Amino acid sequence: MLTSSSNLETRAVHAGMEGVREQGSHVPTIDLSTTNPLGDVENGGMSYEELATGGCLTEGRSAVYQRLWHPGVARFETALADLEGADGSVAFASGMAALAATLIAATTAGTPHVVAVRPLYGGSDHVLESGLLGTSVTWTDVDGIPAAIRPDTGLVIVETPANPTLELLDLRRVADAAGSVPLLVDNTFATPVLQRPIEHGATLVLHSATKYLGGHGDAMGGVVAGPIEWIERLRRVRALTGGLLHPMGAYLLHRGIRTLPVRVRAQQETAGELARRLEAHPAVARVRYPGLPGQDPQGLLGRQLAGPGSIIAIELAGGYDAACRFTEACRLVTHAVSLGGVDSLVQHPASLTHRPVAANAKPDAGVVRLSIGLEHVDDLTADLMAALDAAADAQDLGRSSELAAPADALG
Ligand SMILES: *Cc1c(COP(=O)(O)O)cnc(C)c1O
Repeated sequence: MLTSSSNLETRAVHAGMEGVREQGSHVPTIDLSTTNPLGDVENGGMSYEELATGGCLTEGRSAVYQRLWHPGVARFETALADLEGADGSVAFASGMAALAATLIAATTAGTPHVVAVRPLYGGSDHVLESGLLGTSVTWTDVDGIPAAIRPDTGLVIVETPANPTLELLDLRRVADAAGSVPLLVDNTFATPVLQRPIEHGATLVLHSATKYLGGHGDAMGGVVAGPIEWIERLRRVRALTGGLLHPMGAYLLHRGIRTLPVRVRAQQETAGELARRLEAHPAVARVRYPGLPGQDPQGLLGRQLAGPGSIIAIELAGGYDAACRFTEACRLVTHAVSLGGVDSLVQHPASLTHRPVAANAKPDAGVVRLSIGLEHVDDLTADLMAALDAAADAQDLGRSSELAAPADALG
C-alpha cells in the first residue's frame, strides 16, 4: 500500500491506482461514457452544482457528464499531484490548453497583467505576446520581477530548464521576487523526477504531459498542479471552456508516469555521455547542457535540479545553414517537434517552435535541439557525428558563398 513516506519510484508506479484492486482489476478500466446516471433528481442537481463550481466527485454523487468529471482523468491527476507534492492537479487536452486555463483563472480577479521571464516555450511566448486571452505581459529577468509587478499583476511565469537554451533559474530567488503574486513554473523539461518547483516556492506547476509524462509520443495532454483553491478554480474553467483530456489520453499518460523515473534517468545518462562526445566535433561551436562544466554557475544541480535531464542544445559553428544541414542529415534521430519520448528527436527552434517569437528574443539561428531517447548511446553517437560531418561540409560551402555574397541576410 502506498504511504506518504514511499519513495518516488514506488509512488510513480502506484499513485492514482486507489480502488482498482477492489474493482477486481489490475489496471484502471477505460470508461468512455460521456454521460452518467444521475440517480434521483435532487442528487443529480447537487452533483451538477458541486462539479460545475470546481468541486470533486464525492461518495454517492454522480459524475454527471464527462466535461465535469472523469474517473480516469482524476487518476492521472492524483498521480501527478502526488509526484509534484501538490494538493491536486487538473488535466487538460494539451499543455497549451492547461496554460490557457491558468491564464483565464489567474485573470478573473481583475488581474490581467502577467510578468514573464524569457525564454519560454514558443507557444507560451506567443499566447502572452499576442494578448489573445486578454492578458498583457511584461518581459523581464529574475532581478526585474519586483519592479515589473503591478497592482493588476495576476501571475508570474517562468520555465526552467528553459526551452531551448537550457538556462537554469533559481526558483527560490524567483519565488522571493514574485512575493505574493502566484508563480507558475513550467516543469515540462525537468519532470517531478528531477525538480519539484512547489518545494522551492512555486504556487503552480505546469506540464506539457505530451512530453516526458506520456513518454511515447502517442498521447497529448497538459496538467497544472497546485493548492486546492487553484485546483477548484481550474476545474471550473475546464468545465466551462471544455479543454478536456480524453479518457484514452488520461489512461496513457497515467501509464506513462509509472515508468517516468526509470525513463528520465536512463535518457539522462545517455544525454550526458552524448553531450561530452558532441563537444569534441569541430562543427560544434558550443553544447548547451546543464551537466557540462561551467554551465550551472548558480550551483542549482543537486540543490534544485536532481540532474541535467536529456535535452541538449547544440550551436553549430556554421550558423543557420549548418543547423539546417545537420537536422536534415540525422537518420536514426527523427526531425520532428516535441521531446521527452523514448525515441530521439531533433528540431531547429529558430525556424520552427520559436518562429513566432519576437526577433530580439529568438534563439540563435545556429542552435538545434536534441531530445535524447532510449536508444543505445553508440548508435546515437554514430548518427549525430555523421550529421555533424554533413554540417561541417555545409560550413565550408557557407564560407565560400560568404565570399561570393558577403551581405547574406542570414549570416
Ligand atoms: C510542448 C510544450 C508546451 C506545450 O504543450 P502542448 O502539449 O504541446 O500543448 C509547453 N511548455 C513546454 C516547455 C513544452 O515543451
